Amino acid sequence: MTEAFLWSGGRVFTGRRYVEAVLVEDGRVLFAGGHDEARRLAPTGAERPLLAGRLVIPGLVDAHVHVAELTRVREGFDLAAIRSLAELKDRLAAWAAGHPTGPIVGRGWDPERWGDHRWPSVRDVDPIVADRPVVLHHASGHAALLNTLALEASGALGRGAVADPAMIGRFPDGSPNGLLFEEAIRRAGSVVSDRSGPPAEALGRTLRALTSYGLTSVGAMSASPEEVRALRSLDEAGRLPLTVRAFVRLAELSEYAARDLAAGPGRFAVLGAKGYLDGAFGPRTASLRAPYADDPATSGLRVGDDRTLEDRIAECTARGLVPALHAIGDAAVARAAGMLRPSGGRTGPAGRIEHASLTPPELLGLLQEVRPTLVVQPGFVWSDHWLRGRLGPERARSAYAFRTLTDRGLRLAGSSDAPYDPVDPWRGLAAAVGRRDGLGRSANPDPREALSPEEALGLYTANAATSLGLGGHGRLEPGAPADLVVLGPPDLARAVAAVESPVQETWVGGRRVYVRPGPREE
Ligand SMILES: [Zn+2]
Repeated sequence: MTEAFLWSGGRVFTGRRYVEAVLVEDGRVLFAGGHDEARRLAPTGAERPLLAGRLVIPGLVDAHVHVAELTRVREGFDLAAIRSLAELKDRLAAWAAGHPTGPIVGRGWDPERWGDHRWPSVRDVDPIVADRPVVLHHASGHAALLNTLALEASGALGRGAVADPAMIGRFPDGSPNGLLFEEAIRRAGSVVSDRSGPPAEALGRTLRALTSYGLTSVGAMSASPEEVRALRSLDEAGRLPLTVRAFVRLAELSEYAARDLAAGPGRFAVLGAKGYLDGAFGPRTASLRAPYADDPATSGLRVGDDRTLEDRIAECTARGLVPALHAIGDAAVARAAGMLRPSGGRTGPAGRIEHASLTPPELLGLLQEVRPTLVVQPGFVWSDHWLRGRLGPERARSAYAFRTLTDRGLRLAGSSDAPYDPVDPWRGLAAAVGRRDGLGRSANPDPREALSPEEALGLYTANAATSLGLGGHGRLEPGAPADLVVLGPPDLARAVAAVESPVQETWVGGRRVYVRPGPREE
């Protein structure tokens, strides 16, 4: 029996144009256009949900989310709301009292949100918990604070344990201060056996929560073998509420047999593998071509060895997977573009650069030549509001330069990088359109870099879908999967500017997966 829905009585944005109605049959868009023709085409018995002035748009796509890590944040020790070092210590003491055994892992602290910006050290943690490991991850995921027990157990301090001594924070007297950066953090993970990952049930809860934002597809980045297995098991049970395309860790790719990478029966597949070339702006580990303006002693960290990375990228493309390279600073973006340049007859899927945050004019020619997809996070325009201090105002003009990149014909895919930034795509859309947050702050407020609401939506629909290998998704056109969102406000500009979430319903493959709870009745 066919199942058909005809939405009319409001407006429909297909991703290219505004029309009166959209007709869906058996999970796919059959027609989008005028109301009369849609009615004529609708089979008898088709349901006719009334839009009553509301707006339908294509389902949103987040090209870069850390699903397991987001689950740990949602269901674990969340430090994102901390506003001072004293509060961090209070929260740690309270958590330790409430969870009297086992290692303590917290996430989300960020001194940029504190009055004095002072970074914590091992001396702040040891007096609170000394008898079991404590690992507290910085909001960026590119730094972690450990207590002495965890630091010693991690082995990071051993001779030659990490490639670059700058990955271990030290006090002026040379003793370790408890902070680890980049590759050194992985050693902290082994202390608290982070690798096991959240169970499938918990991942499913996170994915269901994502549909409440209007998300219908996501890229699950840096997935561990356990996460891949859990996502596939959810798919096999028919319990994935949206489409998931996973990127495994490039450094672990050789551990996977071909069958470990096979697609699930429904909405899950492994698409690519992700490697790191640098860190992030917050801990000054993003790799820059010239020193940081607020710390001329450093230009950031160059992560990974070129030769090894190039071998792994070759293995990745040979296995039919998309290479994705994390590069935030301009030196790392240039390095990433060089590595993704097709060479020596090597062919394969087009690569992605994750973040590509700093793209000065001198880099644009190289990016246009290589044409990687740039997987950007418009929400960072608000979150990194302190960036002009880090980079200097001149250089910061080339950060998150979405208009400049779009005008050069480069494809930008929208994403959140959650949990390292809020997962809400409406926050990213608002930042891409308005540039300044509610307090007038911005990493790069230049209004010339603003996108129109429709362009910004394109980043989070068709462009992000393409970056996940979902070519037919992201537009409400005949043949496309019926992934769509019903918004309260009647036009996109108002939906983007809305303070509350504008999402009223989310549909994936012609099935409703989210409906906003109505006002509670007395
Ligand atoms: Zn990420």
